[in-house]
Amino acid sequence: MIMKKFKIAVIPGDGIGNEVTAEGVKVLNTYAEIKGNVEFSYEYFPWGCEYYLKTGKMMDDDGLKTLEAFDAILLGAVGDPSVPDHISLHGLLINIRQGFNQSINLRPIKLLQGAPCPLKDKGPQDIDFTVIRENVEGEYAGVGGFRFPGRPEEVALQTSVFSRKNTEKVMDYAFKLARKRKKFNKVTNVTKSNALNYSMVFWDKIFEEIATNYKDIKTETTHVDAVSMYFIQKPEVYDVLVASNLFGDIITDLGAALQGGLGFAASANLNLEKEYPSMFEPVHGSAPDIKGKQLANPIAMIWTAKMLLDFLLEEDDTEMIIDAITAVLQEEKTLTPDLKGKAKTHEVGDAICGKLKEIM
Ligand code: ATP
Ligand code: MG
Repeated sequence: MIMKKFKIAVIPGDGIGNEVTAEGVKVLNTYAEIKGNVEFSYEYFPWGCEYYLKTGKMMDDDGLKTLEAFDAILLGAVGDPSVPDHISLHGLLINIRQGFNQSINLRPIKLLQGAPCPLKDKGPQDIDFTVIRENVEGEYAGVGGFRFPGRPEEVALQTSVFSRKNTEKVMDYAFKLARKRKKFNKVTNVTKSNALNYSMVFWDKIFEEIATNYKDIKTETTHVDAVSMYFIQKPEVYDVLVASNLFGDIITDLGAALQGGLGFAASANLNLEKEYPSMFEPVHGSAPDIKGKQLANPIAMIWTAKMLLDFLLEEDDTEMIIDAITAVLQEEKTLTPDLKGKAKTHEVGDAICGKLKEIM
């Protein structure tokens, strides 16, 4: 038997990051143990806000160089009430996303049976779509400046950047995914070209161009404000959506609410070319209010670990991890307090691994 070996860089980060990351690693190891032909090795990096408070840096200066040697990065959460968000976000997450050209942010929005949905007339059959968010440029390119600081004429500028190459890549991935998902064979272009008359007009143009390569895929173009409304009114119409960095950020949090909250929201930052490692992280933050108490729901991180397996292995059996999560949800025995249960973070991880061993 040929062993497939993968080196994973683990950045647990801050707050509940440590607690949930342990459960993600547990599931990776359980999967590897069941398969028998996969092996993961891990190296841990202490980067994040605590590191920043000690060293003045969110990660080492040569951190990207160090991470290059790994097949993937598993990240817990970054944030601390005493560190400004723009420092923690740019110093670590955006640094890695942009430095490793992780152009695609993949956000599955799927309501599992047993997860709490705020829409009382909708169920798991209605909420099952994926948002592709552009992840390295757009509104978050970090281009801008301040003019006349402190004067009455003071102005702040924040410029969006949309390159043809990157936009084409993101659109192309969305169409490929729609083909693979086989739901409605549909891609929804999330735009705001009525108001943003350069960036989003360009965005729409590239969407139309790429669509011509995928004649079997239906398309629609909807303004982001309307998409937000339809997420609530008729989420069942969606299959794959493609959105810019800012719009994707906002609608995927709305999506997180639809799928049961931050405890269920998983994400992948993909470098499609595999020239650099991709990074996998739950959407939630460090949740300082519940840190260190084993109260955090590890499902988002476990789902994130599943996405890591999908990207590295391209096997068709990882859906069983979702089945194992669903089984634990439906049993209602081992759930964290956000799901009205009394179980600890590690107990939920154990229960999901137990189910996985039964199912696989
Ligand atoms: P950060 O600045 O790191 O983003 P935050 O204060 O914004 O931290 P979040 O992590 O975004 O906190 O969480 C927002 C709320 O959702 C908090 O009340 C937190 O306890 C809750 N929450 C987030 N993730 C989880 C989880 N995995 N399990 C349970 N509750 C969670
Ligand atoms: Mg937050």
